[in-house]
Amino acid sequence: MDLWSVGERKHSMDYEINTVDMNDEFKVCPSCGYKDGFHSMFRKEGTAVQWLFICPSCHKVFDIGFTV
Ligand SMILES: [Zn+2]
Repeated sequence: MDLWSVGERKHSMDYEINTVDMNDEFKVCPSCGYKDGFHSMFRKEGTAVQWLFICPSCHKVFDIGFTV
């Protein structure tokens, strides 16, 4: 059973963005269980800038719907 829903795969990039539905907090990695939070990254998407989170342990990239 998947613990998170995998979003649309962007084949032009060398990483995959996993779309996550955040509840009260987003602190524990849904992939590997790492508990101490995430690195941030930003990516231009048209006129918006997506705020993405990278797990320091398994290096997966997560999108919880934040834009800057
Ligand atoms: Zn992880």
